[in-house]
Amino acid sequence: MKYNTGTIQQELLRFVDRDHICPNCSMKPYTTMKVGGPAALLLLPVTAGELFGALEVTEKFDVPYVIMGNGSNLIFDDEGYDGIVIRIAGGLDHLRIEGNIIFAEAGTLLTTVAQAAAQAGLTGMEFACGIPGSVGGAVYMNGGAYGGEMSQIVHSVSSISRAGIMKDRPGKELDFSYRKSVFQENGETIFGVKLLLAQGDPRTIQEKIEEYTRRRTTRQPLRYPSSGSFFRRPPGHFAGALIEEAGLKGLSCGGAQISDLHAGFIINTGQATAADILDLMRIVQETVLSRTGVLLEPEVRLIAKDGTLRK
Ligand SMILES: Cc1cc2nc3c(=O)[nH]c(=O)nc-3n(C[C@H](O)[C@H](O)[C@H](O)COP(=O)(O)OP(=O)(O)OC[C@H]3O[C@@H](n4cnc5c(N)ncnc54)[C@H](O)[C@@H]3O)c2cc1C
Repeated sequence: MKYNTGTIQQELLRFVDRDHICPNCSMKPYTTMKVGGPAALLLLPVTAGELFGALEVTEKFDVPYVIMGNGSNLIFDDEGYDGIVIRIAGGLDHLRIEGNIIFAEAGTLLTTVAQAAAQAGLTGMEFACGIPGSVGGAVYMNGGAYGGEMSQIVHSVSSISRAGIMKDRPGKELDFSYRKSVFQENGETIFGVKLLLAQGDPRTIQEKIEEYTRRRTTRQPLRYPSSGSFFRRPPGHFAGALIEEAGLKGLSCGGAQISDLHAGFIINTGQATAADILDLMRIVQETVLSRTGVLLEPEVRLIAKDGTLRK
């Protein structure tokens, strides 16, 4: 890293516990695709104070940083990332239910929130029960499935600007659209989410969850590391169908493979590198484009060493 990590670490220690600062840390175990090289510094804040402190230090030293949730839609290059990664999932996971409202810190896993809602007899987020992200990552991506998406249940979100200012905004101001939210534009860090659900019948809610889980386990290659559906759904098409029709199911580059079960998934068969995944992505994009004129764009966030987003 072109910054003095030693000095930055010293400053971080004013706010962040030593055990929550990992220099030169491989990102492989922290993403569900299980690839990627080291981040110059990985921070694992577990309190609001640690998170605010970490953001203050990045601002003070003008160091590039990436916020990550549970790493289920994120891949780093094999060369790693030349900056600070702040991982929100694994900490910052307080959850509280009051009536029809759920307050969840951004690091809370979506599956935990969906189960808590079900247990409280609250309906509206059954769709989220199998999405392996954090609630912050799900808001950022406007995650969704089976006709539901976060935009339908987000009441408001509190986020922290680069200048360290906390803002609270209602869902309707968050520019939600297909797998998009305002946070992809403004770079703020999502801190907490307020979800508005409705009273429902606990048995019906549980049955819906079981049905969605059954669909996932039979139709998705969950035995392998992946980042879920790799490409965004192009208007008027399904990425998986276009890839399958192009005869690419089962195609491999090194350890990366187009899943035989669901052509929309790129899986890591064991020894994949980020380069294998990028190579396979390019082949899929070029083949589908030349056959159909449709450019498949990655839904997965592919972070290059200098922090730029690969397309
Ligand atoms: C097996 C499998 C199935 C999946 N199924 C679905 C599905 O059905 N529907 C769906 O929509 N997605 C699905 N996904 C993709 C993924 O789970 C979602 O996109 C999820 O919302 C990402 O959350 P995350 O916490 O893992 O975010 P990450 O992957 O860690 O990050 C994703 C993006 O969000 C940003 N981000 C994360 N947290 C914050 C925060 N607190 N503040 C600001 N920015 C933040 C990151 O910078 C990054 O750009 C699936 C993935 C897998 C592996």
